[in-house]
Amino acid sequence: MKNYEMYIDGQWCTASNNENIVSINPATEEPWATFSNATADDVDRAVTAANTAFEHGEWRKLSGTQRGQYLKKIADCVRSNPELLGQTETTDTGKLFRETRWQANNVAGFYDFFAGQADKIKGDVPVTADNAPLILTMREPLGVVAAIVPWNSQLHLAAVKLGPALAAGNTIVLKPSEQASAAVLEFTRMIEKAGLPSGVINVVTGGAECGQALTSHPLVRRISFTGGVETARKIIPATRNNIARLSLELGGKSPVIVFDDANIDSVVNGVIAGIFAATGQSCAAGSRLLLHENIYDIVVEKLVERAKNIRIGDPMDDNTQMGPLATLRQRENIERILKQSVAMGAKILCGGSRPKAFNKGWYFEPTIVECVDQSPTVVQEELFGPVLSVLRFKTESEALEMANASRFAFAGGIFTRDIARAIRFARRVKAGRLWVNTYRVTSAQVPFGGSKDSGYGRESGLDAINDFTDIKSIFIDTTGEPVADPFVMR
Ligand code: NAD
Repeated sequence: MKNYEMYIDGQWCTASNNENIVSINPATEEPWATFSNATADDVDRAVTAANTAFEHGEWRKLSGTQRGQYLKKIADCVRSNPELLGQTETTDTGKLFRETRWQANNVAGFYDFFAGQADKIKGDVPVTADNAPLILTMREPLGVVAAIVPWNSQLHLAAVKLGPALAAGNTIVLKPSEQASAAVLEFTRMIEKAGLPSGVINVVTGGAECGQALTSHPLVRRISFTGGVETARKIIPATRNNIARLSLELGGKSPVIVFDDANIDSVVNGVIAGIFAATGQSCAAGSRLLLHENIYDIVVEKLVERAKNIRIGDPMDDNTQMGPLATLRQRENIERILKQSVAMGAKILCGGSRPKAFNKGWYFEPTIVECVDQSPTVVQEELFGPVLSVLRFKTESEALEMANASRFAFAGGIFTRDIARAIRFARRVKAGRLWVNTYRVTSAQVPFGGSKDSGYGRESGLDAINDFTDIKSIFIDTTGEPVADPFVMR
């Protein structure tokens, strides 16, 4: 068993009541690590350390260039051992090692990106009349940022919060998921070598209580949350205590719309990538497939064939294509929704069960479900698993209506060779990110996020850094004259 501690004010420590959470390897169902279960007192210590580092520490005195150099060092630390980070995340979450290893390296690139932004934060000087005051706007860091991430893609989701927040001069309390905190804690150990001043980055571990203590803490100025919509509904009222600025990256039920002129082989690969990669545990999963009636049968046939042949197995094995689900609760949830949906008329075309070959591990078969309309729960709810709903459409307007008939609006895909149609749909499908003739491609350079029940705010991209700053405007009299009539606003 590995015993992971928390990181507060530059020190590794256990929870003040010595309570631990046991983490289970989803591929073996064996306990493999423990995390501290932070109390409200521990959270208070972490937030206070971050606030002291912000208000009174060295961090505030650094130039953007110097902060950028620290971020570069973080990137180098991450790059020094992507295998360790990958192996840890895979053991804790079941995500494929061939992806977690790559992802750790990719994460370093995000810190590089934000390192390059740290010295480019700037305000404005609007041109005003000669005798009017000179007006300056400047951007200032906010203070303590609470960064809360789920267990899936935790290093990436931490990077898109820590990168811009640190580049802008804020300090951090990071909270990973109680289901799988190990990769974030290994990352924290690794980046100690970057030598950031104590208290600039703090990591607390725990579940809902720890999260609630953090989001309601009066010294927190900004909350950047990624997770489920029901958790977000608890965080929104928590901010009544601190009026902290909030961004919410939540779930999705993203449509993939395929027209009859699309390249079928490309569609099959794109759809498989969108729903079966990472065992479907992605906020951007393309879980609602809308197929034009002319190509419906051929695409469904090919998808079923591919899905049946996906190699399920040990997530550490480079030959495996799909690992287990990260938690038992997810598998039970998927099974419940499938049962309910079949009773509502949905038809399982392949999968739908636990694979027979495994008597251990939270595995679930790649599943394709045919639905005549969008009423079954499987089309309505985010399953966060390898389950694809397939629906048929005739006309463009029908496809558009179906695509937008969801309480989520996170991502989506459009497959067509007709560029005008692709643009029409890209304009009108409600989503924060759309892929045309591809899926599951990402870049630090562009924003990421959704609307409706998928949340609000954007992460990554050139503007993300501004979300971790406040604007201050300053008026400077240039006339040299005494202040005139005090009862008239000018
Ligand atoms: P979750 O909402 O259960 O947990 C997310 C985080 O919130 C965890 O750290 C958890 O401990 C914490 N938390 C729980 N209760 C809290 C509370 N009351 N106050 C504050 N924090 C609390 O989500 P999950 O099951 O870990 O992750 C899956 C969800 O995350 C899915 O809905 C998925 O779509 C979403 N997600 C979104 C994105 C995105 O970028 N939009 C990316 C990945 C995952």
